[in-house]
Amino acid sequence: MQNGSANGLPPLQEVESDLQLPTRADVVVIGGGIVGVSAAYSLARKGHSVVLLEKGRVAAEQSGRNWGWCRKQNRDERELPLAKHSMELWETLAGEIGADMGFRPTGLIYVTKDKDTLAAWEDWARMAQGYQVHSRILTADEARALTPGNEQNWIGGVHAPTDGRAEPSMAAAALAEAARKLGVQLFQGCAVRGLETSGGRVSGVVTERGRIAASAVLCAAGAWSSMLCRRHSISLPQAGVRSTVFCTTPAAEVTPGGLVTPDFTISRRLDGGYIIAANDRGRLEVTPQGLRYAREFWPMFQTRRKSLKIGFGKAFFDGPETIRGKWPLDRPSPFERHRIYAPPPDTSIVQPALDRVISTYPALQGMQMARAWGGWIDCTPDSVPVISAVDKLPGFFLATGFSGHGFGIGPGAGRLAADLIAGDAPIVDPTPFRYARLVDGTALGKPGMM
Ligand SMILES: Cc1cc2nc3c(=O)[nH]c(=O)nc-3n(C[C@H](O)[C@H](O)[C@H](O)COP(=O)(O)OP(=O)(O)OC[C@H]3O[C@@H](n4cnc5c(N)ncnc54)[C@H](O)[C@@H]3O)c2cc1C
Repeated sequence: MQNGSANGLPPLQEVESDLQLPTRADVVVIGGGIVGVSAAYSLARKGHSVVLLEKGRVAAEQSGRNWGWCRKQNRDERELPLAKHSMELWETLAGEIGADMGFRPTGLIYVTKDKDTLAAWEDWARMAQGYQVHSRILTADEARALTPGNEQNWIGGVHAPTDGRAEPSMAAAALAEAARKLGVQLFQGCAVRGLETSGGRVSGVVTERGRIAASAVLCAAGAWSSMLCRRHSISLPQAGVRSTVFCTTPAAEVTPGGLVTPDFTISRRLDGGYIIAANDRGRLEVTPQGLRYAREFWPMFQTRRKSLKIGFGKAFFDGPETIRGKWPLDRPSPFERHRIYAPPPDTSIVQPALDRVISTYPALQGMQMARAWGGWIDCTPDSVPVISAVDKLPGFFLATGFSGHGFGIGPGAGRLAADLIAGDAPIVDPTPFRYARLVDGTALGKPGMM
């Protein structure tokens, strides 16, 4: 099987799989990203028997391809309680599982020269105070003081001192190991081809290695969730944005955590290099699935049109958003054709972004690009995830559509999904994440924050 570096990624921490596929479990979780792993861990802590199925490798898709930001700052209000809970988990999980997930509360800094941007941050900070989240709005002088070596004519900024970053190459894998210690059975290289139903409710899954009976199934399949749902006549509006990032060779520390400027975003990695992203360069690929849900995504597209390029490429024919009808469950499914979906990075942005960072920070002279990779971000029409039961198919649950910010919120999202499946009091109010909003029209026209 491909490893992380074969896909451009820094090497991912390995997790062992179990050998013998069981015939039954209380809950089957589909998808070994941060969300599925966290849900499996939380369910096991509650005493349920859990099987976690991953078509490729733990964290080889979005959860290993991101910047690693874990934040409350600039979260959509609907996500703020869950983001707060997730940040508490990032602080405590490593101690609980006895393994480093790479989380460091280094603080995150945003600076700007634009009055409207600053006003939006001020509005956000006022709103967030109602949730006991206290970000510090920065004056021009404070913004300059927090960005030594990059003292431009910022008019201000915002500093989230308790936010930070975790290492995508470590976090989900460490939690998966912990889940296994609690009895979760993990199978990598094992795609779920589809669901089994009986008497109008979910009764299990069909995998490429056999069937598993279960009274509850959680789909945490990231960008593949809509395709899986469509196989079972469940409509899930999802659209992918292709994003490019790269990491660098180790270099001097110019910022301890993450810094957003109008020109680039840099994040300090534990190995002393940086992850760099050129701002405003996501690519919305035209795909059959995107066309199918064009009406639902139109308001989001209008809001973000300046930050999205539209493109037509391979993703139209091959990948998670091609149209598929009902493939038979006794033959290889689309999921097996893409063990690890690794969209190609847009290499044209790498050198200009690196040059911009180095010209801003002369101390970084000599720093080079180490690896570049692409990631496929699974968005919903309102940029808020779905963490919910699906009423029309009892026993079937979704935790997906994290719209480019699911890594930081992943531990809480998995916990919330586990609460819903177990029928326990949910850790936060799940109403904003209900599936029904995407199909009854109540989400349309309300794109949230990315
Ligand atoms: C470039 C980039 C930067 C980002 N930066 C940040 C950031 O800084 N902070 C942040 O919070 N978020 C960030 N995100 C978003 C974040 O990475 C995602 O929201 C999050 O990782 C989603 O986790 P997940 O578990 O839902 O999905 P994934 O990590 O995509 O996991 C889903 C898994 O399901 C598996 N799967 C799919 N179908 C099947 C099947 N049929 N059978 C078995 N397995 C299946 C897939 O192989 C995959 O491993 C970024 C994303 C990208 C691409």
